[in-house]
Amino acid sequence: KVVTRFAPSPTGFLHIGGARTALFNWLFSRHHGGKALLRIEDTDRKRSTQEAIDAILDGLDWLGLDYDEDPTFQSRQANRHAEVAQILLDNGHAYRCYATPEELEAMRAEQRANKQPMRYDGRWRDRDPSEASEGASFAVRLKTPTDGETAIEDLVQGPVTVRNEEIDDYIILRADGTPTYMLAAVVDDHDMGCTHIIRGDDHLNNAFRQLPIYRAMDAIEGGWSDPTYAHIPLIHGSDGTKLSKRHGALGVEAYRDDMGILPEALFNYLLRLGWGHGDREEITRDEAIELFSLDGVGKSPSRFDIKKLENLNGHYIREADDARLAKMVAGKLGDDADIALLEQAMPVMKTRAKNIDELVDGAGFLFAKIPLTMTDKAAKLLTDDGKALLSAISNRLKAENSWTIEALEATTKALAEELELGFGKLAQPMRAALTGTTTSPGIFDVLVLLGRDEALARIDAQAV
Ligand code: GLU
Repeated sequence: KVVTRFAPSPTGFLHIGGARTALFNWLFSRHHGGKALLRIEDTDRKRSTQEAIDAILDGLDWLGLDYDEDPTFQSRQANRHAEVAQILLDNGHAYRCYATPEELEAMRAEQRANKQPMRYDGRWRDRDPSEASEGASFAVRLKTPTDGETAIEDLVQGPVTVRNEEIDDYIILRADGTPTYMLAAVVDDHDMGCTHIIRGDDHLNNAFRQLPIYRAMDAIEGGWSDPTYAHIPLIHGSDGTKLSKRHGALGVEAYRDDMGILPEALFNYLLRLGWGHGDREEITRDEAIELFSLDGVGKSPSRFDIKKLENLNGHYIREADDARLAKMVAGKLGDDADIALLEQAMPVMKTRAKNIDELVDGAGFLFAKIPLTMTDKAAKLLTDDGKALLSAISNRLKAENSWTIEALEATTKALAEELELGFGKLAQPMRAALTGTTTSPGIFDVLVLLGRDEALARIDAQAV
């Protein structure tokens, strides 16, 4: 049975790359009817914050990524990590290294000077610990294989091979007894039963460092078979360089709160970022679960494209339930927003909006108070001629006894014909008077949404 995990370090918000890694893990599990797990890698106590943990949990929840068990907090497993280090030590797969920080620094300086790769030279690998001075502190290092090579069959990268001499005897337990990421991640992945490790390809090298732990533990106690790896390419900015804040690499909450993105739009966008199914852009959550496979993940970095995200968002806004959108818009408008009116207006308002803020802006006219504030463009339409037209239309509308789109349209068009004016000539000052702007839903929709009294009052406020 497939078991995946998303393992963020809570040192910052859930950024777009992390969210995509989370999504791919989740989809892979759901597609295979397996388990999706979450592990908070909070071992760096200085840099991990509760705020970041909350932001990550909140972001995942908003995206609709649910987990099959409560999250594992890596810091709480420290005793287990130390226990595995001890097992490795006891069985000769790890050793105590008494080299002092100064000594190691001198070793690295020499390697740097000789242009050699900087790695631990194994100086305590075969030494007897009794050679160390009484009470000297030590770190525990893994005894990694020195010859041959390690090959993995990565589900995204394909076959990758590394010569074992390139992998040094790295530290698994620090002098203060705390585990390193390299050990902690492997122990937790094993204990959580993870079958597939899906993560950013910046971790590809770590696979070759982590596999020796599995293999040593498997030799000692069995039951530690290699996991299957899938290292997904990182996301790049639109200019092809590594994604950064400058490219709009924000926390997930910023997409929600500041950019008015719907979760289903970000879900769909993240899915398409690096994964494809033919040339389909719009893929729902259920379809994604049905269709997702790691074969569809490309090997080259994908580029973050805010325009595509906005287009998808526009699509999902048009699909979204009006009551839901009305609630979101009301939340941003504050107390005076009338949710029922917003919901009624939504079908005509949502046709062009690319984000929730555009809906908020577009809804402003519904709650404007006379005298309306005019945009410059709108003010320019309210010339003497424009105002005279408003009086004419006001008289006709006052005589109108059915306040429906059809009736209002017939009346307005009849007047335009009588005056031998294009309909637009009449509609422009009406729109300005009714909304204070030059862009709004259709003018008859606006008249109906505002209702007879308010609409006529707004027109009369500008008419002569
Ligand atoms: N905590 C690591 C990170 O946030 C993930 C490590 C892993 O997936 O193995 O990059």
